[in-house]
Amino acid sequence: MSAPAKQVVSHWINGQAVIPSGSRMGEVFNPATGAVARHVPLADVATVDAAVQAAAAALPAWRDAPPLRRARVMQKFLQLMQAHQEELAALASAEHGKTLPDALGSVQRGIEVIEFACGIPHLLKGEYSENVGSGVDCHTVRQAVGVCAGITPFNFPVMVPLWMFPVAIACGNTFVLKPSEKVPSCSLRMAQLFQQAGLPDGVLNVVHGDKVAVDALLTHPGVSAVSFVGSTPIAKSIYETCARHGKRVQALGGAKNHAVVLPDADMAFTADALIGAAYGSAGERCMAISAVVAVGAAADPIVAQLKKRALAIKIGPGDADGMDMGPLVTGVHRDKVKGYVDLGVKEGAQLIVDGRAHVVKGHENGFFIGTTLFDQVKPTMGIYKDEIFGPVLIVLRVDTLEEAIALVNANPYANGTAIFTESGGAARRFENEIQVGMVGVNVPIPVPVAFYSFGGWKNSLFGDLHVHGTEGVKFYTRTKVVTTRWPKQDTPAAGFHMPTLG
Ligand code: NAD
Repeated sequence: MSAPAKQVVSHWINGQAVIPSGSRMGEVFNPATGAVARHVPLADVATVDAAVQAAAAALPAWRDAPPLRRARVMQKFLQLMQAHQEELAALASAEHGKTLPDALGSVQRGIEVIEFACGIPHLLKGEYSENVGSGVDCHTVRQAVGVCAGITPFNFPVMVPLWMFPVAIACGNTFVLKPSEKVPSCSLRMAQLFQQAGLPDGVLNVVHGDKVAVDALLTHPGVSAVSFVGSTPIAKSIYETCARHGKRVQALGGAKNHAVVLPDADMAFTADALIGAAYGSAGERCMAISAVVAVGAAADPIVAQLKKRALAIKIGPGDADGMDMGPLVTGVHRDKVKGYVDLGVKEGAQLIVDGRAHVVKGHENGFFIGTTLFDQVKPTMGIYKDEIFGPVLIVLRVDTLEEAIALVNANPYANGTAIFTESGGAARRFENEIQVGMVGVNVPIPVPVAFYSFGGWKNSLFGDLHVHGTEGVKFYTRTKVVTTRWPKQDTPAAGFHMPTLG
């Protein structure tokens, strides 16, 4: 008897599910069992072109629709997303591996961007100045950019796409989303819900795929702006390719987020905060704390407290009750993370907790790995320099706050950072001097709420504008300045010289 055919996650083009015949197929895993759960078509150039054409055809009517009408569709989408929050969290957990409560939280953070997008008409207002010259007025309008593309990573299958398309669409753009081929189902489901909310066909399209689909989007003359979130090498190349093709681009990259712990910090509170920030979502968060910088006498107590907690973490399938941490997304990624633990040992770091041999009973083929904690890590080591993106926390020791700030500022990544202290003066100095985009004071994962903007500095973001909040609205709109005169009979015509309008 042959095995039943696996479900195929379709593209979504012009309001319809599409699976072109002869498509190359990718595998989507259940990370808890290691089995292939479904397949996903990998778009070719023609499929990407069909999605861009659909978005271009839908653009004029959507761009010219009154902002309030667009916002009303967004409000219905918000209601549907709230009603389907658990379903989306279950899908995210099934394909990514993260625990259900963690997935639910990330869906909620994405929904908050839709709430923000419902109020975008207010942010589309322009400026107006009367009599900038005699009888001359000046005003600005913010207009949609056109067809926008979003390319997203595997680790937040709902939240990261929601950083992009609700803001772009509320601003009057149309959109082609290329989610990670490892976690394709949530994007398709959101597109279906948006259609149910009344979104006209073609305004939001989803194409699945790999480098072929991404390159087709980056070089397509019909795409005006590209938002990317993923690893640093890809982010940098996306930024460069978009610049060569004259496209507006924001490309968010990888991270190595430091938590600086001062000796006056409440060590139990700090260890609790760090343990969730380091090992939550199996460390597969761009805002995960992956490096602790222990200052002076903070080192021994914080390492002892982290060790106790790291050993107590419950690891199992994301949908099992009471789990703290699920598997990694793929076997390839699990092996890469394991390789970094081997490297740390080889480099001479002190291995305090070793997660390599961890087995989850009944799930021996799942992509599980235990928690790992290293102490006495040096900035020259590979386990410090590279983003590991797994449940591996490293501790570096320094003598002063000044040294800690210098260490963080010398790192090429600059997504998020945090300081743990009871000293307002030390916190203020840290906030002022640290060269990182998002900073927490006794807050380990300082992800900005939707009405602020999210983004790192240096190798964690290529481009000028961060995502969502007012920076997102700026990214997805262009300003036009209009200067107006209504001449009377005796108004002199413009002459040969540079007019001063005075
Ligand atoms: P990734 O860079 O491998 O993939 C991201 C996207 O790019 C996917 O859609 C993928 O299909 C596509 N892609 C992959 N290789 C490509 C190539 N050679 N050419 C063109 N496109 C390509 O990232 P990932 O493994 O899916 O996600 C994890 C990474 O994302 C981590 O580095 C993490 O720090 C980062 N991330 C950053 C943020 C942030 O806000 N800065 C947020 C989430 C994740």
